[in-house]
Amino acid sequence: MKIALISDVHGNLEALEKVLRDIEKEGAEKIHFLGDAVGYGCDPDECVQLIKSHCEIKLMGNHDYAAMGLESIESFNQLAQTSIGWTQEKISKKTMSTLADLELDADFLDFHLVHASPSDPIAWQYLLNVSQAGPEFDHFNGSICFVGHSHLPTIFTQDNEGAVMKSIKDSWECAPDRKYIINIGSVGQPRDNDPRACYLIADIDARRMTYRRVEYDIKRTQEKMKKAKMPDFLIERLAAGL
Ligand code: ZN
Repeated sequence: MKIALISDVHGNLEALEKVLRDIEKEGAEKIHFLGDAVGYGCDPDECVQLIKSHCEIKLMGNHDYAAMGLESIESFNQLAQTSIGWTQEKISKKTMSTLADLELDADFLDFHLVHASPSDPIAWQYLLNVSQAGPEFDHFNGSICFVGHSHLPTIFTQDNEGAVMKSIKDSWECAPDRKYIINIGSVGQPRDNDPRACYLIADIDARRMTYRRVEYDIKRTQEKMKKAKMPDFLIERLAAGL
């Protein structure tokens, strides 16, 4: 059985539509969403509705949480603050109530899902290196924790003696005697210098994970953002994958 995991769509409708098409082509039976439906992009309502209709598990990200007014936006950088303010003005009541139904974390089969870190889902901690990820292995049951948040595809592996290492591969088989924290990358705003939308296919029976990279019409997204008078850097970063 193949499962698709998507995260950090950030209101980028063109990227999300292309990824949903790719998932269909890949034959995944279910899609789970790891948070940040809104923020940065121009089409939060459309993205939230597509996520609602296509995804089984739907998690809350820090941008969704902030757009709902559940957190002060002072901890966000200036660009994120601007985009959250824009999103709050733009989203419909229907979108707001869909966001309110998002969960903070979830389990399915042998896997744990959370937007940022399993130890405290609303601390919104980034897991960028071994010292940040290491202690998090004690905070989930099962063999694999899937996360989003940093927009950087990353694999943390813990061996049976507790040692943790960081790696990145396009496709690999998860060993049955290891634990993993896997960042699935971002659909709507990749930051690993590859501008193509990123998501992960998990082939459950084979324990094989594969990152998918999907081209989409970045120029069209950028033009919409220009019209909406979004900050230049948010527009430019999409083409560079920053
Ligand atoms: Zn994000």
